Amino acid sequence: MEQADIIIIGAGIMGLCTAQQIARRSALRVLVVEQGASLGLGSSGASSAVCRHRYTQDEMMMLARDGIHAYRHWPEFTGLPAPRATFHNTGALWINPAGKNWADVESQRMAAMDIRASVLDTAVLRERFPAINPCLTPPDLITGAGHACDSGSSFLFEEDAGYFDPVDALQDLAEAVTSAGVRISMHTSVARIITSGGSVTGIQLKDGRRIGAGMIVNATGPWCDRMLEPLGLAGRWPLSPVRIQVIHLNRPEAVQGTIPVVCDLVGGIYFREQNNGQQIVLGSTLEEDEREEVNPDSYRNWVDDHFKASKLHALQHRIPALPAHLGVTGYTGLYTVNTADVHPLVGPTEIEGLFVANGFSGHGFKAAPAIGSLLAQQLTGLQSDFDTRVSSDFLAFDRSPIPVDAHNVLA
Ligand SMILES: Cc1cc2nc3c(=O)[nH]c(=O)nc-3n(C[C@H](O)[C@H](O)[C@H](O)COP(=O)(O)OP(=O)(O)OC[C@H]3O[C@@H](n4cnc5c(N)ncnc54)[C@H](O)[C@@H]3O)c2cc1C
Repeated sequence: MEQADIIIIGAGIMGLCTAQQIARRSALRVLVVEQGASLGLGSSGASSAVCRHRYTQDEMMMLARDGIHAYRHWPEFTGLPAPRATFHNTGALWINPAGKNWADVESQRMAAMDIRASVLDTAVLRERFPAINPCLTPPDLITGAGHACDSGSSFLFEEDAGYFDPVDALQDLAEAVTSAGVRISMHTSVARIITSGGSVTGIQLKDGRRIGAGMIVNATGPWCDRMLEPLGLAGRWPLSPVRIQVIHLNRPEAVQGTIPVVCDLVGGIYFREQNNGQQIVLGSTLEEDEREEVNPDSYRNWVDDHFKASKLHALQHRIPALPAHLGVTGYTGLYTVNTADVHPLVGPTEIEGLFVANGFSGHGFKAAPAIGSLLAQQLTGLQSDFDTRVSSDFLAFDRSPIPVDAHNVLA
């Protein structure tokens, strides 16, 4: 029987970052198995890949910081002299009706974690980002009726935030880990994880073949419960694959200046530029848009008319230079939402040798290099540069749910 030291199931951003973090510190034989014929079949391929830091939990902010550090230093992290993916350092602007006090507190939290942030007043906002309307009065998303906009107050701005190229990142990681000796087996679907006496011993593929290993990482994204169920672990956490809609539009010439990543809590949207500012990517920050549970093998891959109309109305409120009638396209992807506390599960399980990296909702891309570091430290017992110092207890499989106020992508 074919044998590896560690099998990683799933070549999404979690599986490949974990492989890269292992390869950076050890010569263990790592095999990554991926059901897709090409990379990006799961959540990672559809990701908006926004890399910003602000979360309600300090540990999530540190994981975001440490993940973004790797994206910002991608050639060093991957060891590739000319990688395909680039970090687009646009910054991230938070527009929150909570105003000055919130922005002050959050910028101080960030400063304490060595995350660069500032508080912008309306005049500075208008100067730096002339396309952005500072209004804090919510748009009427039901009727679409307009209102007289106010002039806002204070805004949190993350200097070191931006976005990454998700599919290029997967390809870079595949190249990096392959040249470090990791094997990636594409078009290889795992039927089940094999155990004996409470320990993992390998995997069985859908074609019947078996591959042995003493350590297995379940990094199967929205399909994660299919691996956990036969082991009796699926009910432990409510991990739901949910359909997520995203809109793309061409940026009209009338929209002037730089567009940062914008987290618009007034309109319930986030957006960022794409293709060197020629396009805009637009999504939702609302919990109600993250709860449509679907079968990850077959779900509606178009954007609903209602979603399109309400999100575009919110965007037109935030960027008033956009014309009233916009031609847009859209697509859907999958979050894996841990509906208990919207935080992921990372690390060992009670089955000896079985590790999970599941339930990343809309937070996973930015944190993936740091999540890979958490797992690689646990799998190998070794440390490396680009490691996070966040405690592995924070996201442990046997933890209690984290009390959170926000049950959405901003948790
Ligand atoms: C529309 C959208 C926007 C997002 N925006 C952001 C964002 O702006 N910022 C951010 O930080 N995060 C964002 N996310 C979240 C982030 O993309 C995910 O958290 C992250 O990609 C999860 O990665 P993963 O590797 O766990 O899962 P996946 O990318 O889904 O990878 C899992 C892989 O496992 C494979 N697999 C599954 N079952 C098997 C099997 N039985 N055998 C072999 N292989 C298998 C799948 O084919 C897949 O390739 C977004 C997600 C979506 C969908």
